Amino acid sequence: MEAESLVCVSTVHPDIVKPVRRLVCCCCGGSITGRQFHNQDTGHGLGDCCVEFVKPRTEDMERTYGIEGVHYLLDPLVLVRQSDGREWSKWRISLRLTDRCGLLNAPDPEKRPAFSRLQSDPALLRSLQAQMPWNVSSIVRKDGVWGILFEVPFATVESETGKVDPQDPWYLSLPLQEEKSSQILSAFPKLANAFPGVLFAVPDRDHVELGRTTVWAFVPHGLLDAMQRFDLIGALRQL
Ligand SMILES: [Zn+2]
Repeated sequence: MEAESLVCVSTVHPDIVKPVRRLVCCCCGGSITGRQFHNQDTGHGLGDCCVEFVKPRTEDMERTYGIEGVHYLLDPLVLVRQSDGREWSKWRISLRLTDRCGLLNAPDPEKRPAFSRLQSDPALLRSLQAQMPWNVSSIVRKDGVWGILFEVPFATVESETGKVDPQDPWYLSLPLQEEKSSQILSAFPKLANAFPGVLFAVPDRDHVELGRTTVWAFVPHGLLDAMQRFDLIGALRQL
């Protein structure tokens, strides 16, 4: 607990509000996607294509090229709902870099640009692992910020149809998917008040297990202590 309290809370880089745009790779001249960094010429930035090439040749990556996940090697886009309306928004998040026990998942360069960074930093990995409660979360990176993603799934009529006896009382008591989503989303203002700094969302069906309606809570590195994490899990499960 004492070591844990020394962890600084990760905060999002101010450049995250800048638009993601087409840039010219300052290394190879290729067309790339990224955010403008003030130490690069306007319209230029480090491409994902050349990160591995420049790393061993650059004294200070942050000062020269900016922050991984903010200016280059952006986290992938995922569709989510964040409020009780019909509209969808987008999170940039590298999902499930570890399993729910904190063990690194198999590398997947397409989906996990943050993976090699985490793999090469055992101290960071250990520090994040120490913030994972049992079996409800995984290590992720959102907008360049390391953290823990809590995931709590809920069965709905749609997710269980064809899997269980249609006369089963449990099945008969299930809500419709849209009812469950709406119920979860309408609780977000209260959750946001209770857990400042934690971000809540309901992801699209492509990013949940077994088709179940799921609530996500992104907890930046170092934000919550063990008791607060316990309370958060309780609050999510009660939705
Ligand atoms: Zn390049």
